Amino acid sequence: MNIFLTLDYELFFGNPTGSVEKCILEPTERLLNISRKYGVGMTYFVDIGYLLAMEREMIHFPQLQHDYNLVVDQLHKIIAEGSDVQLHIHPHWEDCNYTPEGWNMITHLHYKLDDFPEEEIYPLVKRYKEKLEEIIGRKVNSFRAGGWCLQPFSKVEKAFQELGIKYDTTVFQGGKFSSEHYAFDFTSAPNKGRYQFQSVLTHENPEGYFTEIPIGGMKYHPLFYWQLYGWGRVRPSRHKMLGDGNFIAQPGRKQKHLTKSSWNHISMDGYFASKLKSATRKFAKSGRTDLVVIGHPKSMTEFSFERLERYIQAMQKKHEFLTFKDLPHAD
Ligand SMILES: [Zn+2]
Repeated sequence: MNIFLTLDYELFFGNPTGSVEKCILEPTERLLNISRKYGVGMTYFVDIGYLLAMEREMIHFPQLQHDYNLVVDQLHKIIAEGSDVQLHIHPHWEDCNYTPEGWNMITHLHYKLDDFPEEEIYPLVKRYKEKLEEIIGRKVNSFRAGGWCLQPFSKVEKAFQELGIKYDTTVFQGGKFSSEHYAFDFTSAPNKGRYQFQSVLTHENPEGYFTEIPIGGMKYHPLFYWQLYGWGRVRPSRHKMLGDGNFIAQPGRKQKHLTKSSWNHISMDGYFASKLKSATRKFAKSGRTDLVVIGHPKSMTEFSFERLERYIQAMQKKHEFLTFKDLPHAD
């Protein structure tokens, strides 16, 4: 089985957003150390809207110029060391501005690409993709949607195809969520390591231009979340996220997780890393061809770094760790 270790490279979008050092730079350095130690590349899905927003605001706030340079240097390092950089879009950055107190996060207007009129989507995606390519000095062809919001796909289909975005890894098995400002439903997606599609993200179409390589998903029992929250209290030094910001508030979510089984990602974030090995063995046993593991530098903990290392050690003998740049390029 091919295993793709992927990370959404971004700040938090709640209040506060956290610092670039704690949410992005420091945890990514530690991930790069792991990559170097085991010769295993990872794919970083870079929230390029953040870089564009810094560029827009740095004229008034020189601190942003400094942060911007540090991020760009790290992206060069990621590439130079054999890991991969691909496209991640959180278009709400279009509405955000910087203040002496930090980012003024406005997420309710344009949280997803679908919130823009169709004629604005192509120029936006083009601008974001070209900026990332200019920074890293090479083309990208793979995508993950911010907040996993890429439905209805038909609205972005033409733009993505024209821009050569051939691979997507937004879907996760069993995933379903809806709130006032965003929603996704992957419950009808094929349970496969990869599939072709065209206008509908979750419908296999062997003639389709696009390839979906879904993030692995599994059902988590409430007991898992009791452990997750419990360990966070009992041993914060081991289970506290490195990132120093807050997620967007989702009232009722914790309560739901603690009372009812729910689908979520196969993930290297925090306590989720405790399930990496058993979940991967299950997928491999079912004959699956590919497994995408998600993570976020900001959500890594001492515990998850340790489990990630053990996971790579255990899986390296049997499975192949790939990055998205290892996939065949579009013609
Ligand atoms: Zn994201």
